[in-house]
Amino acid sequence: MLTRDDCARLDAQDELSALRDEFALPDGVIYLDGNSLGALPKGAVATLSKAVEQEWGQGLIRSWGEAEWFSLPERLGDRLGRLIGAAPGQVVVCDGTSINIYKALRAAMEMRPDRKVLVSELGSFPTDLYMLEGALIGADGYSTRLLGRDDDDIANLLDDQVAAVLLSNVDYRSGRLLDMERITRQAHEAGALVIWDLCHSAGVIPLELDAIGADFAVGCSYKYLNGGPGAPAYIYVAERHHDSARQPLSGWWGHAAPFAFESSFRPTAGIRRFLVGTQSILGLKGVEAAMDLFEGVDMQAIRRKSRNLCDSFIQLVEQHPDCRALRLASPREAEERGSQVAFDFAGGYAVVRAMIEQGVIGDFREPGIMRFGLAPYYLRFTDLFDAVEVMADCLRREVWMDPKYATRETVT
Ligand SMILES: *Cc1c(COP(=O)(O)O)cnc(C)c1O
Repeated sequence: MLTRDDCARLDAQDELSALRDEFALPDGVIYLDGNSLGALPKGAVATLSKAVEQEWGQGLIRSWGEAEWFSLPERLGDRLGRLIGAAPGQVVVCDGTSINIYKALRAAMEMRPDRKVLVSELGSFPTDLYMLEGALIGADGYSTRLLGRDDDDIANLLDDQVAAVLLSNVDYRSGRLLDMERITRQAHEAGALVIWDLCHSAGVIPLELDAIGADFAVGCSYKYLNGGPGAPAYIYVAERHHDSARQPLSGWWGHAAPFAFESSFRPTAGIRRFLVGTQSILGLKGVEAAMDLFEGVDMQAIRRKSRNLCDSFIQLVEQHPDCRALRLASPREAEERGSQVAFDFAGGYAVVRAMIEQGVIGDFREPGIMRFGLAPYYLRFTDLFDAVEVMADCLRREVWMDPKYATRETVT
């Protein structure tokens, strides 16, 4: 049994407890949705105010140079690179994840012109599959192979026809973690390129893109990275590909001489060629505040706490007599799991809604997944204990019988 006192003891030993003070968290809320929208870092308020009042308000157009707005995508990319194991000059923060997936896919397809198969996963976050469909518009003779549809073993999907593999490191529903190093190696042995989607892993899992020889990676900064709602995403392209990789959205920010206003496109050298057009500076400022927060944070310590939180949460749910109807939908082994825990339960939607009404915010993914993203920066073990008490109360009250939870909200 894990008691509330045990949880308090774990909090007292928490090497990351000071990080919680860096966040502006609402009173009376236990936030278990850090994988959907990260919490507000206190520093973001000052960073964004300064960007609005001084840089925009006073600096006006001069701020492109004086406040270094123009170089912000790659300066932030270098800082974010530290969190994902990328040496400087290989990451830009820009656009959205969906858009960056498209750029990476098309670049990879062009780098393997004789190969006409793209590999992905049936259970991917849908936008990844939708963008894959879009990338194939007008591309003759291509087909896809999906993990979970055509085979359950990636090795059986790889051969000399495969141009690129697009996979998520952490499954958005179950939290299952893929072995990036092994899959990258297998894909390379087959001559294919790999695009990693890091949406649910960057910021909670120490990643080593350079060390594993990754080709491309994309991810968003508004989940565990706490960059703010709709904050710009990022794209990583390994330096060895910079000269050969061409992305199709050839806008002026990727041009070799954007202010020469030439009439045709010439890609610039380096990672900036993955930019398209003018970036949302205010959005980027949210990412800047997040990078300030991560400065000096040890990703190994983050991972240790994340694993302990998830293990404890599973234990707390499974030991509670009122939670018996829930079935763990995440891997039980911490090494095979990201920083989230999912439970399968037919009445899950109503339970999540009722929990939110009591200040415990998780989310729900079809068909019956109650999903809890445990952000190690601000969560305490006692929060988890209290959250499970609320969950148990909702189950005891059979909230799914209540007609007010029968219809789905727009954003679940
Ligand atoms: C959240 C998420 C996205 C989001 O894409 P946007 O373009 O930012 O809306 C994409 N892929 C995965 C795997 C995600 O988890």
